[in-house]
Amino acid sequence: MEQVRVRIAPSPSGNLHIGTARTALFNYLYAKKNNGKYILRIEDTDAERTSQEYIDNIFDSLKALGLSWDEGPDVGGEYGPYTQSERFDIYPKYAQMLVEKGFAYECFCTPEELEAEKEEATKNKQAYVYSKKCENLTEEEKEKLRAEGRKPAIRFSVSKAQKAFHNSSMLKFNDLVKGELHQDMDLIGDFVIMKSNGTPTYNFAVVIDDMLMKISQIIRGEDHISNTFKQILIYEALGAEIPQFGHLGMILAPDRSKLSKRHGATAVSEFVEKGYLIDALVNFVALLGWSPSDGNEIKSVDEIAQDFRIGELSASNSIFEYDKLNWMNSQYIKKLSLEELKERLKPFLEKYDLSELTEEQYSRMVEVTREPLTILSDITDAVPYFFGENVEIEESVKTDVLAAENSKKVLKEFVERAKNWSFDEETLHHKLEEFRGFFKEQGIKPKETMWAIRAAVTGRTRGADMCAILAILGKDKVIKRVNQCL
Ligand code: GLU
Repeated sequence: MEQVRVRIAPSPSGNLHIGTARTALFNYLYAKKNNGKYILRIEDTDAERTSQEYIDNIFDSLKALGLSWDEGPDVGGEYGPYTQSERFDIYPKYAQMLVEKGFAYECFCTPEELEAEKEEATKNKQAYVYSKKCENLTEEEKEKLRAEGRKPAIRFSVSKAQKAFHNSSMLKFNDLVKGELHQDMDLIGDFVIMKSNGTPTYNFAVVIDDMLMKISQIIRGEDHISNTFKQILIYEALGAEIPQFGHLGMILAPDRSKLSKRHGATAVSEFVEKGYLIDALVNFVALLGWSPSDGNEIKSVDEIAQDFRIGELSASNSIFEYDKLNWMNSQYIKKLSLEELKERLKPFLEKYDLSELTEEQYSRMVEVTREPLTILSDITDAVPYFFGENVEIEESVKTDVLAAENSKKVLKEFVERAKNWSFDEETLHHKLEEFRGFFKEQGIKPKETMWAIRAAVTGRTRGADMCAILAILGKDKVIKRVNQCL
Protein backbone atom coordinates (compact mmCIF):
# COMPACT_ATOMS: atom_id res chain seq x y z
CA MET A 1 0.00 0.00 0.00
CA GLU A 2 1.14 3.49 -0.76
CA GLN A 3 1.88 5.73 2.17
CA VAL A 4 -1.16 7.03 3.96
CA ARG A 5 -1.28 10.82 3.77
CA VAL A 6 -4.21 12.69 5.27
CA ARG A 7 -4.84 16.33 5.96
CA ILE A 8 -6.83 18.83 7.92
CA ALA A 9 -7.71 21.84 5.82
CA PRO A 10 -9.40 24.55 7.87
CA SER A 11 -10.59 27.83 6.44
CA PRO A 12 -9.47 30.62 8.77
CA SER A 13 -12.81 32.39 8.97
CA GLY A 14 -13.09 31.87 12.73
CA ASN A 15 -11.32 30.36 15.70
CA LEU A 16 -10.73 26.61 15.47
CA HIS A 17 -14.18 25.09 15.90
CA ILE A 18 -14.61 22.02 18.03
CA GLY A 19 -16.06 20.25 14.94
CA THR A 20 -12.91 20.98 12.96
CA ALA A 21 -10.93 19.72 15.95
CA ARG A 22 -12.80 16.43 15.66
CA THR A 23 -12.01 16.20 11.94
CA ALA A 24 -8.36 16.96 12.74
CA LEU A 25 -8.34 14.32 15.46
CA PHE A 26 -9.83 11.61 13.23
CA ASN A 27 -7.30 12.39 10.49
CA TYR A 28 -4.51 12.35 13.06
CA LEU A 29 -5.72 9.03 14.46
CA TYR A 30 -6.01 7.54 10.99
CA ALA A 31 -2.44 8.60 10.19
CA LYS A 32 -1.18 7.29 13.52
CA LYS A 33 -2.89 3.97 13.10
CA ASN A 34 -1.52 3.56 9.57
CA ASN A 35 1.97 5.01 10.04
CA GLY A 36 0.97 7.81 7.76
CA LYS A 37 1.51 11.53 7.56
CA TYR A 38 -0.94 14.15 8.74
CA ILE A 39 -0.78 17.52 7.03
CA LEU A 40 -2.17 20.97 7.81
CA ARG A 41 -3.30 23.21 5.00
CA ILE A 42 -4.80 26.63 5.55
CA GLU A 43 -7.54 27.22 2.99
CA ASP A 44 -7.56 30.98 2.75
CA THR A 45 -8.64 31.46 -0.85
CA ASP A 46 -11.48 33.64 0.39
CA ALA A 47 -9.42 36.67 1.41
CA GLU A 48 -12.40 38.57 2.77
CA ARG A 49 -13.19 35.96 5.39
CA THR A 50 -9.60 35.29 6.40
CA SER A 51 -7.70 36.89 9.25
CA GLN A 52 -4.24 36.32 10.72
CA GLU A 53 -5.79 36.20 14.16
CA TYR A 54 -7.84 33.16 13.16
CA ILE A 55 -4.84 31.52 11.50
CA ASP A 56 -2.86 31.93 14.73
CA ASN A 57 -5.77 30.58 16.73
CA ILE A 58 -5.91 27.50 14.50
CA PHE A 59 -2.17 26.82 14.99
CA ASP A 60 -2.28 27.36 18.71
CA SER A 61 -5.41 25.26 19.20
CA LEU A 62 -4.13 22.34 17.13
CA LYS A 63 -0.83 22.43 18.98
CA ALA A 64 -2.59 22.63 22.34
CA LEU A 65 -4.66 19.59 21.39
CA GLY A 66 -1.49 17.68 20.54
CA LEU A 67 -2.51 17.59 16.88
CA SER A 68 0.61 19.14 15.41
CA TRP A 69 1.21 18.40 11.75
CA ASP A 70 3.94 16.26 10.25
CA GLU A 71 5.16 18.35 7.37
CA GLY A 72 5.10 21.70 5.66
CA PRO A 73 7.45 24.51 4.70
CA ASP A 74 10.30 24.89 7.20
CA VAL A 75 9.89 27.97 9.36
CA GLY A 76 12.98 28.07 11.54
CA GLY A 77 13.19 24.41 12.43
CA GLU A 78 9.43 24.05 12.74
CA TYR A 79 6.91 23.10 10.11
CA GLY A 80 4.67 25.81 8.86
CA PRO A 81 1.40 24.76 7.31
CA TYR A 82 0.75 24.81 3.61
CA THR A 83 -1.17 27.98 2.86
CA GLN A 84 -3.24 28.27 -0.28
CA SER A 85 -2.82 32.02 -0.69
CA GLU A 86 0.93 31.44 -0.96
CA ARG A 87 0.33 28.96 -3.74
CA PHE A 88 -1.76 31.12 -6.07
CA ASP A 89 0.73 30.75 -8.92
CA ILE A 90 0.19 26.98 -8.95
CA TYR A 91 -3.51 26.80 -9.78
CA PRO A 92 -3.92 28.71 -13.09
CA LYS A 93 -1.82 26.30 -15.10
CA TYR A 94 -3.99 23.37 -14.10
CA ALA A 95 -7.11 25.35 -14.99
CA GLN A 96 -5.52 26.13 -18.34
CA MET A 97 -4.79 22.47 -18.83
CA LEU A 98 -8.47 21.66 -18.30
CA VAL A 99 -9.45 24.36 -20.80
CA GLU A 100 -7.07 22.86 -23.34
CA LYS A 101 -8.44 19.37 -22.76
CA GLY A 102 -11.95 20.73 -23.28
CA PHE A 103 -13.13 20.13 -19.69
CA ALA A 104 -13.33 23.80 -18.79
CA TYR A 105 -14.17 27.06 -20.51
CA GLU A 106 -14.05 30.79 -20.01
CA CYS A 107 -17.22 32.33 -18.69
CA PHE A 108 -17.83 36.05 -19.13
CA CYS A 109 -21.16 36.27 -17.37
CA THR A 110 -21.48 39.16 -14.94
CA PRO A 111 -22.83 38.66 -11.40
CA GLU A 112 -26.01 40.44 -12.55
CA GLU A 113 -26.51 38.06 -15.47
CA LEU A 114 -26.03 35.07 -13.20
CA GLU A 115 -28.40 36.52 -10.65
CA ALA A 116 -31.04 36.93 -13.34
CA GLU A 117 -30.63 33.26 -14.33
CA LYS A 118 -31.07 32.21 -10.71
CA GLU A 119 -34.18 34.33 -10.30
CA GLU A 120 -35.63 32.83 -13.44
CA ALA A 121 -35.05 29.32 -12.07
CA THR A 122 -36.64 30.26 -8.75
CA LYS A 123 -39.63 31.72 -10.58
CA ASN A 124 -40.06 28.44 -12.48
CA LYS A 125 -39.54 26.45 -9.29
CA GLN A 126 -36.49 24.75 -10.77
CA ALA A 127 -33.17 23.91 -9.15
CA TYR A 128 -30.65 26.34 -10.55
CA VAL A 129 -27.89 25.09 -12.84
CA TYR A 130 -25.79 27.42 -14.95
CA SER A 131 -27.14 27.84 -18.50
CA LYS A 132 -23.79 27.07 -20.18
CA LYS A 133 -24.28 30.27 -22.12
CA CYS A 134 -20.50 30.75 -22.42
CA GLU A 135 -19.50 27.17 -23.17
CA ASN A 136 -19.50 27.50 -26.93
CA LEU A 137 -18.45 31.10 -27.46
CA THR A 138 -16.35 31.62 -30.58
CA GLU A 139 -12.95 33.30 -30.39
CA GLU A 140 -14.47 36.43 -31.90
CA GLU A 141 -17.26 36.58 -29.36
CA LYS A 142 -14.74 36.19 -26.57
CA GLU A 143 -12.57 38.94 -28.01
CA LYS A 144 -15.56 41.23 -28.13
CA LEU A 145 -16.41 40.55 -24.50
CA ARG A 146 -12.80 41.12 -23.49
CA ALA A 147 -12.82 44.40 -25.34
CA GLU A 148 -15.80 45.41 -23.19
CA GLY A 149 -13.47 45.04 -20.24
CA ARG A 150 -14.94 41.77 -19.02
CA LYS A 151 -12.58 39.39 -17.26
CA PRO A 152 -13.52 35.72 -17.59
CA ALA A 153 -13.89 33.17 -14.85
CA ILE A 154 -13.17 29.54 -15.75
CA ARG A 155 -15.95 27.03 -15.45
CA PHE A 156 -15.78 23.27 -15.34
CA SER A 157 -17.93 21.52 -17.93
CA VAL A 158 -19.77 18.75 -16.12
CA SER A 159 -21.35 17.39 -19.29
CA LYS A 160 -17.98 17.04 -21.05
CA ALA A 161 -16.54 15.17 -18.08
CA GLN A 162 -19.61 13.02 -17.90
CA LYS A 163 -19.37 12.08 -21.58
CA ALA A 164 -15.68 11.32 -21.32
CA PHE A 165 -15.71 9.20 -18.18
CA HIS A 166 -19.21 7.89 -17.50
CA ASN A 167 -21.89 5.85 -19.27
CA SER A 168 -24.72 7.22 -17.21
CA SER A 169 -25.48 10.45 -15.45
CA MET A 170 -25.04 8.80 -12.05
CA LEU A 171 -21.77 9.55 -10.30
CA LYS A 172 -20.91 7.12 -7.50
CA PHE A 173 -18.21 6.57 -4.97
CA ASN A 174 -17.65 4.33 -2.00
CA ASP A 175 -17.41 6.39 1.12
CA LEU A 176 -15.17 4.97 3.86
CA VAL A 177 -17.74 5.86 6.50
CA LYS A 178 -21.07 6.03 4.73
CA GLY A 179 -20.78 3.35 2.04
CA GLU A 180 -21.92 4.02 -1.51
CA LEU A 181 -23.04 7.56 -2.30
CA HIS A 182 -24.35 8.87 -5.59
CA GLN A 183 -25.32 12.06 -7.31
CA ASP A 184 -27.04 12.81 -10.61
CA MET A 185 -24.50 14.80 -12.61
CA ASP A 186 -27.25 16.59 -14.52
CA LEU A 187 -28.01 18.44 -11.32
CA ILE A 188 -24.47 19.60 -10.64
CA GLY A 189 -24.23 22.45 -13.12
CA ASP A 190 -21.00 23.83 -14.55
CA PHE A 191 -19.16 25.34 -11.62
CA VAL A 192 -16.47 27.99 -11.45
CA ILE A 193 -12.94 26.74 -10.81
CA MET A 194 -11.05 30.03 -11.28
CA LYS A 195 -12.62 33.33 -10.37
CA SER A 196 -12.33 36.29 -12.72
CA ASN A 197 -9.74 37.79 -10.36
CA GLY A 198 -7.42 34.88 -11.06
CA THR A 199 -7.82 33.08 -7.74
CA PRO A 200 -9.05 29.48 -7.50
CA THR A 201 -12.35 28.51 -5.93
CA TYR A 202 -12.37 26.17 -2.95
CA ASN A 203 -13.33 23.10 -5.01
CA PHE A 204 -10.49 23.61 -7.45
CA ALA A 205 -7.71 24.58 -5.03
CA VAL A 206 -8.59 21.66 -2.80
CA VAL A 207 -8.24 19.13 -5.62
CA ILE A 208 -4.98 20.57 -6.94
CA ASP A 209 -3.53 20.63 -3.45
CA ASP A 210 -4.73 17.18 -2.48
CA MET A 211 -3.33 15.88 -5.75
CA LEU A 212 0.05 17.61 -5.37
CA MET A 213 0.27 16.68 -1.69
CA LYS A 214 -0.51 13.07 -2.61
CA ILE A 215 -3.36 12.88 -0.14
CA SER A 216 -4.59 9.29 0.03
CA GLN A 217 -7.69 9.66 2.23
CA ILE A 218 -9.88 12.71 2.71
CA ILE A 219 -11.73 12.56 6.00
CA ARG A 220 -14.08 15.47 6.63
CA GLY A 221 -17.61 16.47 7.54
CA GLU A 222 -20.61 15.31 5.54
CA ASP A 223 -21.38 18.92 4.67
CA HIS A 224 -18.71 18.42 2.00
CA ILE A 225 -20.41 15.51 0.21
CA SER A 226 -21.81 17.72 -2.54
CA ASN A 227 -18.31 19.13 -3.06
CA THR A 228 -16.85 15.64 -3.26
CA PHE A 229 -18.81 14.88 -6.44
CA LYS A 230 -17.46 18.01 -8.10
CA GLN A 231 -13.98 17.19 -6.90
CA ILE A 232 -14.12 13.65 -8.29
CA LEU A 233 -15.01 15.09 -11.70
CA ILE A 234 -11.98 17.38 -11.52
CA TYR A 235 -9.64 14.50 -10.60
CA GLU A 236 -10.95 12.50 -13.54
CA ALA A 237 -10.53 15.40 -15.94
CA LEU A 238 -6.97 15.98 -14.72
CA GLY A 239 -6.19 12.29 -15.13
CA ALA A 240 -5.21 12.18 -11.47
CA GLU A 241 -5.67 9.34 -9.02
CA ILE A 242 -8.82 9.83 -6.93
CA PRO A 243 -8.25 9.61 -3.17
CA GLN A 244 -10.61 7.74 -0.88
CA PHE A 245 -13.23 9.82 0.91
CA GLY A 246 -14.74 9.40 4.36
CA HIS A 247 -17.51 11.73 5.48
CA LEU A 248 -18.33 12.15 9.14
CA GLY A 249 -21.80 12.85 10.51
CA MET A 250 -22.35 16.36 11.80
CA ILE A 251 -22.05 17.47 15.40
CA LEU A 252 -25.35 18.80 16.71
CA ALA A 253 -26.30 20.62 19.88
CA PRO A 254 -28.38 18.81 22.52
CA ASP A 255 -31.50 20.39 20.97
CA ARG A 256 -30.44 18.84 17.62
CA SER A 257 -29.86 22.16 15.95
CA LYS A 258 -26.51 23.26 14.57
CA LEU A 259 -24.02 23.69 17.42
CA SER A 260 -23.59 27.41 17.97
CA LYS A 261 -22.52 29.98 20.54
CA ARG A 262 -25.94 30.08 22.11
CA HIS A 263 -25.43 26.49 23.29
CA GLY A 264 -22.09 27.23 24.93
CA ALA A 265 -18.45 27.29 23.89
CA THR A 266 -17.73 26.16 20.33
CA ALA A 267 -14.10 27.13 19.75
CA VAL A 268 -11.32 24.99 21.17
CA SER A 269 -9.68 28.09 22.67
CA GLU A 270 -12.91 28.93 24.53
CA PHE A 271 -13.01 25.49 26.10
CA VAL A 272 -9.38 25.84 27.15
CA GLU A 273 -10.02 29.30 28.59
CA LYS A 274 -12.88 27.92 30.63
CA GLY A 275 -10.63 25.31 32.11
CA TYR A 276 -11.41 22.13 30.24
CA LEU A 277 -8.42 19.80 30.25
CA ILE A 278 -7.00 18.96 26.85
CA ASP A 279 -7.04 15.22 27.53
CA ALA A 280 -10.69 15.35 28.52
CA LEU A 281 -11.60 17.46 25.51
CA VAL A 282 -9.79 15.15 23.07
CA ASN A 283 -11.33 12.07 24.68
CA PHE A 284 -14.80 13.60 24.52
CA VAL A 285 -14.42 14.79 20.94
CA ALA A 286 -13.27 11.34 19.83
CA LEU A 287 -16.53 9.93 21.14
CA LEU A 288 -18.42 12.12 18.67
CA GLY A 289 -18.35 9.39 16.05
CA TRP A 290 -15.94 6.80 17.42
CA SER A 291 -16.87 4.19 20.04
CA PRO A 292 -14.48 2.07 22.07
CA SER A 293 -14.63 -1.67 21.34
CA ASP A 294 -14.44 -2.49 25.08
CA GLY A 295 -17.13 -0.02 26.14
CA ASN A 296 -14.75 1.95 28.35
CA GLU A 297 -15.05 5.53 27.17
CA ILE A 298 -12.21 7.08 29.15
CA LYS A 299 -9.21 6.63 26.91
CA SER A 300 -5.95 8.34 26.03
CA VAL A 301 -5.17 9.35 22.46
CA ASP A 302 -2.78 6.42 22.09
CA GLU A 303 -5.43 3.98 23.25
CA ILE A 304 -7.97 5.54 20.91
CA ALA A 305 -5.53 5.32 18.00
CA GLN A 306 -5.08 1.59 18.64
CA ASP A 307 -8.82 1.07 18.62
CA PHE A 308 -9.56 3.34 15.66
CA ARG A 309 -11.16 1.84 12.55
CA ILE A 310 -12.53 4.31 10.09
CA GLY A 311 -15.16 1.92 8.75
CA GLU A 312 -16.67 1.73 12.22
CA LEU A 313 -17.14 5.45 12.72
CA SER A 314 -20.72 6.51 13.07
CA ALA A 315 -22.27 7.62 9.81
CA SER A 316 -24.99 9.52 11.61
CA ASN A 317 -24.89 12.78 13.51
CA SER A 318 -23.47 13.04 17.02
CA ILE A 319 -24.89 15.12 19.83
CA PHE A 320 -22.55 17.41 21.69
CA GLU A 321 -23.61 16.78 25.28
CA TYR A 322 -22.09 19.53 27.39
CA ASP A 323 -23.12 17.65 30.53
CA LYS A 324 -21.17 14.63 29.48
CA LEU A 325 -18.13 16.75 28.69
CA ASN A 326 -18.39 18.30 32.14
CA TRP A 327 -18.59 14.92 33.78
CA MET A 328 -15.65 13.67 31.78
CA ASN A 329 -13.62 16.76 32.63
CA SER A 330 -14.31 16.28 36.33
CA GLN A 331 -13.02 12.71 36.01
CA TYR A 332 -9.83 13.95 34.39
CA ILE A 333 -9.39 16.60 37.10
CA LYS A 334 -9.67 13.88 39.75
CA LYS A 335 -6.89 11.95 38.03
CA LEU A 336 -4.44 14.87 38.15
CA SER A 337 -1.72 14.72 40.78
CA LEU A 338 -1.86 17.49 43.36
CA GLU A 339 1.27 19.11 41.95
CA GLU A 340 -0.14 19.11 38.44
CA LEU A 341 -3.48 20.46 39.55
CA LYS A 342 -1.79 23.25 41.51
CA GLU A 343 -0.02 24.37 38.36
CA ARG A 344 -3.09 24.08 36.15
CA LEU A 345 -5.22 26.10 38.54
CA LYS A 346 -2.85 29.05 38.73
CA PRO A 347 -4.19 30.86 35.65
CA PHE A 348 -7.64 30.77 37.24
CA LEU A 349 -6.40 32.26 40.50
CA GLU A 350 -4.89 35.38 39.01
CA LYS A 351 -7.35 37.66 40.76
CA TYR A 352 -6.00 36.53 44.12
CA ASP A 353 -2.63 37.20 45.67
CA LEU A 354 -1.18 33.72 45.87
CA SER A 355 1.81 35.04 47.78
CA GLU A 356 -0.48 35.33 50.80
CA LEU A 357 -0.22 31.55 51.08
CA THR A 358 2.84 29.45 51.73
CA GLU A 359 3.42 26.59 49.31
CA GLU A 360 2.11 24.24 51.94
CA GLN A 361 -1.04 26.29 52.50
CA TYR A 362 -1.66 26.49 48.76
CA SER A 363 -1.34 22.71 48.50
CA ARG A 364 -3.79 22.21 51.31
CA MET A 365 -6.24 24.71 49.84
CA VAL A 366 -6.23 22.83 46.54
CA GLU A 367 -6.54 19.51 48.30
CA VAL A 368 -9.66 20.57 50.18
CA THR A 369 -11.36 22.38 47.29
CA ARG A 370 -10.65 20.04 44.34
CA GLU A 371 -13.42 17.51 44.88
CA PRO A 372 -16.36 19.42 43.34
CA LEU A 373 -14.42 20.98 40.45
CA THR A 374 -16.00 20.34 37.06
CA ILE A 375 -13.84 22.74 35.11
CA LEU A 376 -10.67 24.41 36.32
CA SER A 377 -12.26 27.86 36.31
CA ASP A 378 -14.67 26.68 39.02
CA ILE A 379 -11.80 27.28 41.42
CA THR A 380 -12.11 31.05 41.03
CA ASP A 381 -15.43 31.22 42.86
CA ALA A 382 -14.61 28.41 45.24
CA VAL A 383 -11.79 30.10 47.13
CA PRO A 384 -12.22 33.86 47.68
CA TYR A 385 -12.32 33.45 51.46
CA PHE A 386 -8.78 32.07 51.54
CA PHE A 387 -7.50 35.50 50.52
CA GLY A 388 -7.46 39.03 51.95
CA GLU A 389 -8.05 40.22 55.46
CA ASN A 390 -11.79 40.57 55.24
CA VAL A 391 -14.43 38.45 53.71
CA GLU A 392 -17.49 39.36 51.75
CA ILE A 393 -20.56 37.89 53.39
CA GLU A 394 -23.31 36.69 51.07
CA GLU A 395 -26.55 38.59 51.62
CA SER A 396 -28.59 35.46 52.34
CA VAL A 397 -26.02 34.39 54.95
CA LYS A 398 -26.44 37.70 56.76
CA THR A 399 -30.20 37.45 56.89
CA ASP A 400 -30.32 33.75 57.61
CA VAL A 401 -27.46 32.06 59.47
CA LEU A 402 -25.99 35.16 61.07
CA ALA A 403 -29.35 36.55 62.06
CA ALA A 404 -30.23 33.36 63.91
CA GLU A 405 -30.74 33.90 67.59
CA ASN A 406 -27.79 31.77 68.77
CA SER A 407 -25.20 32.95 66.29
CA LYS A 408 -23.92 35.84 68.32
CA LYS A 409 -23.51 33.70 71.39
CA VAL A 410 -21.63 31.04 69.42
CA LEU A 411 -19.31 33.53 67.78
CA LYS A 412 -18.50 35.35 71.02
CA GLU A 413 -17.63 32.09 72.73
CA PHE A 414 -15.58 31.07 69.69
CA VAL A 415 -13.42 34.19 69.87
CA GLU A 416 -12.86 33.73 73.58
CA ARG A 417 -11.73 30.15 73.17
CA ALA A 418 -9.88 30.38 69.86
CA LYS A 419 -7.50 32.97 71.27
CA ASN A 420 -5.85 30.16 73.20
CA TRP A 421 -5.91 27.47 70.53
CA SER A 422 -3.06 26.35 68.42
CA PHE A 423 -4.26 26.62 64.79
CA ASP A 424 -3.03 23.34 63.39
CA GLU A 425 -5.70 21.11 61.89
CA GLU A 426 -5.40 18.36 64.43
CA THR A 427 -5.81 20.64 67.44
CA LEU A 428 -8.61 22.51 65.72
CA HIS A 429 -10.39 19.25 65.10
CA HIS A 430 -10.45 18.40 68.81
CA LYS A 431 -11.19 21.92 69.95
CA LEU A 432 -14.13 22.29 67.60
CA GLU A 433 -15.51 18.97 68.74
CA GLU A 434 -15.42 20.17 72.34
CA PHE A 435 -16.93 23.44 71.25
CA ARG A 436 -19.88 21.77 69.54
CA GLY A 437 -20.37 19.56 72.59
CA PHE A 438 -20.49 22.60 74.83
CA PHE A 439 -23.33 24.16 72.86
CA LYS A 440 -25.09 20.87 72.31
CA GLU A 441 -25.58 20.67 76.05
CA GLN A 442 -27.35 24.01 75.80
CA GLY A 443 -29.64 22.64 73.12
CA ILE A 444 -27.89 24.22 70.13
CA LYS A 445 -27.40 21.79 67.30
CA PRO A 446 -23.78 21.08 66.26
CA LYS A 447 -24.74 21.96 62.69
CA GLU A 448 -25.93 25.37 63.80
CA THR A 449 -22.73 26.02 65.73
CA MET A 450 -20.58 25.21 62.73
CA TRP A 451 -22.73 27.22 60.33
CA ALA A 452 -22.24 30.33 62.40
CA ILE A 453 -18.46 29.96 62.36
CA ARG A 454 -18.33 29.10 58.69
CA ALA A 455 -20.57 32.05 57.85
CA ALA A 456 -18.44 34.50 59.81
CA VAL A 457 -15.12 33.23 58.48
CA THR A 458 -16.00 32.46 54.86
CA GLY A 459 -19.17 34.45 54.26
CA ARG A 460 -20.84 31.28 53.01
CA THR A 461 -22.70 28.29 54.34
CA ARG A 462 -20.88 25.74 52.24
CA GLY A 463 -17.31 25.12 51.31
CA ALA A 464 -14.18 23.20 52.09
CA ASP A 465 -13.33 21.40 55.34
CA MET A 466 -13.64 23.89 58.20
CA CYS A 467 -10.51 22.87 60.09
CA ALA A 468 -8.45 23.21 56.94
CA ILE A 469 -9.88 26.66 56.26
CA LEU A 470 -9.15 27.84 59.80
CA ALA A 471 -5.64 26.44 59.73
CA ILE A 472 -4.83 28.03 56.38
CA LEU A 473 -6.19 31.42 57.41
CA GLY A 474 -4.47 31.34 60.78
CA LYS A 475 -5.60 32.58 64.15
CA ASP A 476 -5.28 36.32 63.57
CA LYS A 477 -7.32 36.49 60.40
CA VAL A 478 -9.97 34.14 61.75
CA ILE A 479 -10.48 36.07 64.95
CA LYS A 480 -10.46 39.36 63.09
CA ARG A 481 -13.16 38.16 60.71
CA VAL A 482 -15.33 36.81 63.50
CA ASN A 483 -14.99 40.02 65.50
CA GLN A 484 -15.84 42.05 62.45
CA CYS A 485 -18.93 39.95 61.94
CA LEU A 486 -19.94 40.43 65.55
N1 GLU B 1 -11.65 24.29 4.06
C1 GLU B 1 -12.78 23.45 4.24
C2 GLU B 1 -13.52 23.84 5.49
O1 GLU B 1 -12.95 24.45 6.38
C3 GLU B 1 -12.45 22.00 4.38
C4 GLU B 1 -12.02 21.45 3.12
C5 GLU B 1 -11.81 19.98 3.10
O2 GLU B 1 -11.61 19.33 4.11
O3 GLU B 1 -11.78 19.51 1.97
O4 GLU B 1 -14.66 23.48 5.61
